[in-house]
Amino acid sequence: MSRYKDEQCRICRREGQKLFLKGERCYTDKCSINRRNYAPGQNGQKKSKLSEYGTQLREKQKTKSFYGVGEKQFRKYFDMASKNKGKTGEILLQLLESRLDNVVYRLGFATSRTQARMLVTHGAFDVNGKKVNIPSYIIKEGDVISVREIKKDNGAIKHAIEVNSARPAPTWLERDFEKLSGKVVRLAGREDIDLPVEEHLIVELYSK
Ligand code: SF4
Repeated sequence: MSRYKDEQCRICRREGQKLFLKGERCYTDKCSINRRNYAPGQNGQKKSKLSEYGTQLREKQKTKSFYGVGEKQFRKYFDMASKNKGKTGEILLQLLESRLDNVVYRLGFATSRTQARMLVTHGAFDVNGKKVNIPSYIIKEGDVISVREIKKDNGAIKHAIEVNSARPAPTWLERDFEKLSGKVVRLAGREDIDLPVEEHLIVELYSK
């Protein structure tokens, strides 16, 4: 059980970066990266140089883990991004950032993306007044996300609001904790996305 509970921290340790997969714990001294900043496993403390392919792969894995997206879906986002005009890597990140579960998390209605995904699946949110229970739903500029009437007393949402009230929402979102809602002012740009990733390496990986 404890191995399972540590699984998300192992991902961060493998990437050597805080990916904020666990919610509140990530902001405390209990964060495993603060205590054991080396890869898990017997050879975790040995530094080995990655090949070009290995580096590209790590960037992809890190991005997938950060957003909690599986390989098939991630590839789908990449294909969507590559059909758009503009920098494929940046559009890929924008698409991931526009997922409803991520937006719920960014607004502060959940303490982690995992929790946001669960809340969305359980029908806790409306988008523009209509229930949406698909975590991968892509939000658009101007969309309004609100906690559904029947979920207004949800303990996890209440707790998340308490925890996040001191943290400002990203500038591309507007939130109103009193009204339990938030608005997408504009889509997130690269400068808004705090994931330490070199997205061009993902593009290179998929372009082979
Ligand atoms: Fe664990 Fe720290 Fe990563 Fe959070 S940021 S999942 S606490 S290692």
